[in-house]
Amino acid sequence: MRRYAVFGSPIAHSLSPRIHTAFARQTGIALEYLAIEATRDTFPAILAASGVAGANITLPLKEVAFAHCRSVSARARRAGAVNTLTRTDAGWHGDNTDGAGLVRDLTERHGVDLRERRVLLLGAGGAARGVAPALLDAGIDALYVVNRNSARADALADALGDPARVHARGWDALPTLGEFDLLVNATSAGQTGTPLPPLPMALAAPRSVAVDLAYGRAAVPFTAWARAAGCAQALDGLGMLVEQAAESFQCWHGVRPDTDPVYADVRRLTDTQPVSD
Ligand code: NDP
Repeated sequence: MRRYAVFGSPIAHSLSPRIHTAFARQTGIALEYLAIEATRDTFPAILAASGVAGANITLPLKEVAFAHCRSVSARARRAGAVNTLTRTDAGWHGDNTDGAGLVRDLTERHGVDLRERRVLLLGAGGAARGVAPALLDAGIDALYVVNRNSARADALADALGDPARVHARGWDALPTLGEFDLLVNATSAGQTGTPLPPLPMALAAPRSVAVDLAYGRAAVPFTAWARAAGCAQALDGLGMLVEQAAESFQCWHGVRPDTDPVYADVRRLTDTQPVSD
């Protein structure tokens, strides 16, 4: 039986084993999927000893994993981070399925049309780098990257190489930016316990969709703000989690699983107990 795993820290409450095991059962593929604790220092040795054919990578290892790859996909190169590793004869191949997962969740599960939309991206860390190229490829009109550390927002905007559509701003500029069609919280504020600086209500309009890439309790502050600001939809990152996993599953096994029953399962679970990706 082939072995796969998600690597990260902390990893004990990861939903990835449950999601991939459900996909495998559904598609009749025999596999074992583990959650393996690893830090930046221990990751290369633990990966080598694990015997996995493929791996998902989560916090804080996405950049370390990128550096560890023999080859990477175009979307992983644009993100500068990988969340999916596949063992090849030449070494590890890296991919990044986070952006495709978010876009698929928004467009197919929640009926959001991204074309010509004005988008606010809060955060400039690994998740923001993963989703920004996919949002641009989906045809949005403008992307405003706002980060607490404005130099990181500048670096992300530069890396995206699309100055006509991508604009970096500091948090203090938020009151001047007007309304957005889509607001994406790609910060880890909900997890760190340090709240986001206050967000002006004027960022949202009745047509706006807000999505927090976090889920469970970590998504509560931002989604509550989005509802109070009058957004049409206030979503969390659980759908993205399932869709990025399906994209990884397809990379490894050449089959796209049906995500709806698995999404329903993890939705039930996160409504009743705390989890992490
Ligand atoms: P990183 O550590 O790489 O980046 C964290 C980002 O959050 C930085 O931009 C940081 O700003 C910002 N930030 C942290 N705390 C605060 C705060 N109190 N106020 C303002 N900004 C803050 O994390 P990731 O990018 O990997 O993850 C971000 C989120 O996305 C997490 O919640 C993670 O769980 C989620 N995620 C969800 C996925 C899914 O499938 N649903 C997949 C991947 C990630 P600064 O640069 O100034 O420090």
